[in-house]
Amino acid sequence: MAKRDYYEVLGVPKTASDDEIKKAYRKLAKKYHPDLNKDNKDAEAKFKEVGEAYEVLSDKDKRARYDAYGHAGVDPNAAGGAGYGGFDGFGGFDVGDIFDSIFGGGFGGGGRRANRAQKGADIGIALTISFEEAAFGTKKTIELNVLHQCETCHGSGAKAGTSPETCPTCHGTGQVRASMGFFSTTRTCDACRGTGKIIKNPCDTCRGQGLIRKRKKIDVSIPAGIDNGQRISVRGQGNAGKNGGPAGDIIITIQVTPHPIFVRRGDDVLCSVPLTFAEAALGAEIEVPTLDGKIKYTIPEGTQNGDTFKLRDKGITHIASRGRGDQILSIRVEVPKNLTSKQKDMLRAFAEEIGEKNYKEKKSFLDKIKKYMK
Ligand SMILES: [Zn+2]
Ligand SMILES: [Zn+2]
Repeated sequence: MAKRDYYEVLGVPKTASDDEIKKAYRKLAKKYHPDLNKDNKDAEAKFKEVGEAYEVLSDKDKRARYDAYGHAGVDPNAAGGAGYGGFDGFGGFDVGDIFDSIFGGGFGGGGRRANRAQKGADIGIALTISFEEAAFGTKKTIELNVLHQCETCHGSGAKAGTSPETCPTCHGTGQVRASMGFFSTTRTCDACRGTGKIIKNPCDTCRGQGLIRKRKKIDVSIPAGIDNGQRISVRGQGNAGKNGGPAGDIIITIQVTPHPIFVRRGDDVLCSVPLTFAEAALGAEIEVPTLDGKIKYTIPEGTQNGDTFKLRDKGITHIASRGRGDQILSIRVEVPKNLTSKQKDMLRAFAEEIGEKNYKEKKSFLDKIKKYMK
C-alpha cells in the first residue's frame, strides 16, 4: 500500500512550525492511542502512522530529506535510499546570505528505470530575513544555479543530427540480470548507467548530460507571520526533469535574524522594559518601541517588577488567519547603584518615613515566618 504524505497524516501544512507539528501529533496520538481504542485495528494502524510521521517531521534532518525526496529519503528500506549524505544541512549563515545546495545532484533518486519520466531534483536553500520582514511579509529575489534542459540537444544529450542508441548490453532496459547459484539478481547496467541508451556523439553544450546548469533569478513572496525554520516551496522552479518529467521544486528554509529589542513568542512580541524605582512607584509616561514605531505608554503607579502589560494587535501578523498577535511589555525595575552619600541619606530618611506598611509582600512574608518558623 502506498504511504500517505506525512504532512497529510498529521494534518499540517508543509510550512508548519515544530510547535504546530508537536501539537498535531499529541492530539492525534491521544485520539488513536491503543488504551482508548481496544481491539480497534484501524486505530492501531493510524497510531503507528502518526508516530512514524512525527518521528520524521520532528527531526530537522529527516524532515529536510523527506521534503526533498519523499518517503525514499527517510526510509532505509526504500529502493536506492536516495540522497543520504547528499544534504549539507543548514546553519551558520550571515544576514542576507543565500546558499544553494543541490540535493544529491541526481535526477530523481534511486531505483530508476530506463526512459521513465523523472521529476527533477528539488533544490534546498536557506534565506535569511529580518524580524520585521517576518512580521509583515516581504518580497525577495533569490539567485541560484538550476539545471535546465540543454537547448542544443533538447535534453537528449546527443550531438545535432545524431540520436542516442539503444544500449546493446541491456537492450534498453537499463538493468542486467546476473545469476548467482539459485538466485538471479538484477543490477543497473554499467554500459549505459541505467539509462538504456548509449550516446556515441555527445552534445558539446551539455557533454551528453541533456541538462546544463544556469543561474536563475526567482521572485519569492514571503508571507507575513512566517517564523524561523519554516519552509516555502516554489513549485516547478527546481532542476529540470528527464524524459519529459516535471521540474523539481525550490524549498526555501526561512531563517529570521534575532531582533535587538523584541523576542517572538508565537505571534506575540515580548519586550523587556526597564523602569527606575521612582517611575515604578509614582507611575510614568514612557516611550515604548513597537513593530509600528515608537508609542507613548502610561505605566500606572505602584507597578511591580515582573508586571506585564499587553498592547493589543501590536504583534506579528497571523500567517493562517486574520489579525495580529499582541506585544507584551515585561517590566524590570532597576535598583540604582553607586549612590552618593547625600542620595543614601535621602533614601534612609525615606525608608524611615515609610516603614513597612506600604510593602504588602514583605509584610506578608514576615508574618508567615512568625507563624510557621520557630
Ligand atoms: Zn545498458
Ligand atoms: Zn545538450
